Amino acid sequence: MEEPAPEPVVKAPAEKPAEKPKDVEIHQTLDGDKKEEKPVANKITVGHVHMSGCTGCLVSLADNYEGLFKILDDYADLVYCLTLADVRHIPEMDVALVEGSVCLQDETSVREIKETRERAKVVVALGGCAAYGNITRFCRGGQWNQPQHESYVPIGDLIDVDVVIPSCPPGAESIRNVCVMAYLLLQGTDEQKELAAAYLKPLMDLAKRGTEACGCDLMYDVINQGLCMGCGTCAASCPVRAITMEYGRPAIDRDMCIKCGACYAQCPRSFFNFDVINQFEGIMEAIDGAMGKGGE
Ligand code: SF4
Ligand code: SF4
Repeated sequence: MEEPAPEPVVKAPAEKPAEKPKDVEIHQTLDGDKKEEKPVANKITVGHVHMSGCTGCLVSLADNYEGLFKILDDYADLVYCLTLADVRHIPEMDVALVEGSVCLQDETSVREIKETRERAKVVVALGGCAAYGNITRFCRGGQWNQPQHESYVPIGDLIDVDVVIPSCPPGAESIRNVCVMAYLLLQGTDEQKELAAAYLKPLMDLAKRGTEACGCDLMYDVINQGLCMGCGTCAASCPVRAITMEYGRPAIDRDMCIKCGACYAQCPRSFFNFDVINQFEGIMEAIDGAMGKGGE
C-alpha cells in the first residue's frame, strides 16, 4: 500500500512590521527622550474654566471615555484646564466651558469670569451652577475661613453667555455633542454649519431666557400654559428626584429642588424646537460620523 502524501507545510506569512503613521514626527530632546508630535490641522481651542463648582461637570466630560480622546485627537485642543493641565492664566480660546457660579466677594473669581468673556469666542455655561446658580443659590456665608463669601451668582449675571448646558451634572453626551457641534460650526462645511446651528439654537435660546431655574418653571411655563402632556420626562431628568408624577402631572417637592434647570430644559413642551426636530437624523448622523460610529 502506498504511503499517503505528506501534508503540505503551510507557512504563515511573514508578519509585516508595524509602520509609524506618516503624520507622526519624532523629535529627540536634549536629554535623550523621544517625543512624538502629531500635527492636526484646524482643531478648535477649548478651555475649561473652573469657578465655584465641584468639578462634577468636568468629570461628566471625562465620562465620554474614548469619545473624549477622539475629540482631543481630532477636533479640539484643550488649552486651559487647571485640573488637567499646567496653564496658569486664561488664554485666548474658541470655546470656554465654564463650570460653577461666581462668588461676588472673591475678586479673583469676578476678574477671571470677565477675562474669560474677553478671551473666548463662545462662552458655554456648563452645568446648573454656571447657568442658574444651582446649589450655590442657597449659600448665605458665615462659614470659616471666609465668612464674608456669601453671594454666588450664575455667570450670566456678570457676562454674556452664548450657550447653556443645564443639569447637575450635564450628561456626558450633551457636553460631547456641544463640543462636536462647536467644531462643525467653526470648521465644517456649509451643510455641517447649518446642522450645528440647528442643534445649538435651543441651548442658545436657553442662555437668552435668563439665569433663574427651578422646578416651578414647569408649573408656570408648561402646566399652567396647558402644554403638559404628562410624559414624565421632567421626573426622569431630575437628579434629586424632586418630581413625582401624580394623576398624570408632575408634582414638585420644592424643598428638594436644587435649581439645576434640567426638568424645564428636558421637557418636550418647553422650547420645542422645529430646527432640531426637522433635522434630527442629519444631526445624529453628523455626530455619529464625527465620533466614528459607522459614519466614517
Ligand atoms: S425640580 Fe429637579 S430637575 Fe427641576 S430644577 Fe429642581 S432639581 Fe433640577
Ligand atoms: S416633561 Fe413637560 S410635558 Fe412631560 S410631564 Fe413634565 S412638564 Fe409635562
